Amino acid sequence: MADKHTRYGWWLEEAGLPDPRPPLEGDVDADIVVLGGGYTGMWTAWFINELEPEARVALLEAERCGTGPSGRNGGFVDSMWISLSTLHKRFGADDALAIGRASEAAVDGIGDWCRDLGVDAGYRRGGYLQVSTAPAHDHTPHAAVRAAADLGVPETCIAQTRSEVRGRCQSPLFRHGAYYPAAATVQPARLAHGLRHRLIDRGVLMFEDSRARRLRSRPGEVQIETADGRVRAAAAVLAAGGRLAAHPLLRRRLTVASSHMVITEPVPDVLEEIGWSGGECITDSRAMVQYFRTTPDGRIAFGWGGGRLVPGARLNGRAEVDRGVAAEVERRLVRVFPSLRGRRIEHAWGGPIDVSPTHLPVIGSHPDGRAHYAFGYTGNGVGPSRLVGRTLASMALDRRDEHTRLALVEPPPIRVPPEPFRYAGGTIVRAALLRRERLEEEGRRPDPLTRFVAGVPERIGIHIGR
Ligand SMILES: Cc1cc2nc3c(=O)[nH]c(=O)nc-3n(C[C@H](O)[C@H](O)[C@H](O)COP(=O)(O)OP(=O)(O)OC[C@H]3O[C@@H](n4cnc5c(N)ncnc54)[C@H](O)[C@@H]3O)c2cc1C
Repeated sequence: MADKHTRYGWWLEEAGLPDPRPPLEGDVDADIVVLGGGYTGMWTAWFINELEPEARVALLEAERCGTGPSGRNGGFVDSMWISLSTLHKRFGADDALAIGRASEAAVDGIGDWCRDLGVDAGYRRGGYLQVSTAPAHDHTPHAAVRAAADLGVPETCIAQTRSEVRGRCQSPLFRHGAYYPAAATVQPARLAHGLRHRLIDRGVLMFEDSRARRLRSRPGEVQIETADGRVRAAAAVLAAGGRLAAHPLLRRRLTVASSHMVITEPVPDVLEEIGWSGGECITDSRAMVQYFRTTPDGRIAFGWGGGRLVPGARLNGRAEVDRGVAAEVERRLVRVFPSLRGRRIEHAWGGPIDVSPTHLPVIGSHPDGRAHYAFGYTGNGVGPSRLVGRTLASMALDRRDEHTRLALVEPPPIRVPPEPFRYAGGTIVRAALLRRERLEEEGRRPDPLTRFVAGVPERIGIHIGR
């Protein structure tokens, strides 16, 4: 039997890998150079072209555009209403609402874009359901519903009783929940390929197998060098995902964790039995979140964000599939949906997650004002990357508008501990969180030491959970 653990995952296999664009060779002049061909870099290039069709945009991608997390995620297109309470605490009501609304527009914008440009990414707006799977987690969906009501947007997050949850999808573990209508699912690799093709059609200079090695800022220009070439431009956008944690300016601003997924064979009989026909994407309410969705051909894709941290020294390699974690994901899937016992898992894969201390994306500029960056989606980048890309496009073109005024731009920085303490400490906290969540789901009270260690990040201002 073929190895089900593939490097890129099922979505990229299903969509197929396009032929690579040639690497950068020699000197190229552009108005703006974008580093990184994931959703953030590609949406940025797209919006620069929309705003200034004459601007010359060069995009450098180390491998193939969309083969990083952007082509292998869960395909949940969520708004940032799911982070409303965190947004409120951090930025106040008005800014939180502005971000929520802009992110909802991004969810709809992705669907409209796919329709208008003929991109078949399987966009389905079925909403997002957050469920509690243990009494200790019951407060999470309640708090989300209350936060939306308190800020005058109750329609964005609607309480679901246990029977309403079960009307959408049945699992012996599900208790009550919260439903966010502004969410969709996509086939993530098809969305990435769609962006890539439309950018090529629009004349973006796309160079693949072109890893940026050095960024230099000179009076009046930035230069990005690869092994065989150099792009000179007036501005740069750094959209390299978790690899930005290797950048000296951003080293203390993010950590890199990992998330793993499995996908079943088509199981239409199981979907019918559990009554999951509405296309909702679903998560539980843990800090180490479990997330699941269906596909148009009747599969269940199931992921877990509890993978290991990626040590600083390994940031230049990808977080590939961790077989032990993938096997754990399979066990968790069957615990949530026991009818899947004995059904075939066709693929398992993993990828890095760029985690910011607040779990909110951060958009900023290098002090010289020529290089702009974004990082920190913390597992919720599919929808927000369109909004972030739109914002970065304005920043790179030196425009000021409602996007550059969003509070996600240049927020007061929160620093993470330096290496090696970050990796060592993060690993200990991860173990405590896993233990706490296991005990909570078994209906047991975690011991004081576990509670203490699992609570350390919150106590030092680092937010854990979605
Ligand atoms: C398993 C998994 C499941 C996930 N599920 C979801 C989900 O369901 N919903 C959701 O919203 N989010 C999810 N995420 C997160 C989501 O995939 C990311 O937030 C999003 O793709 C980030 O896009 P990006 O463009 O910022 O980064 P990336 O997709 O990481 O793209 C960055 C690109 O930069 C390139 N690059 C890096 N360094 C260089 C360099 N030096 N030179 C040139 N290029 C470089 C990389 O090769 C890569 O292609 C998931 C992630 C994983 C791993």
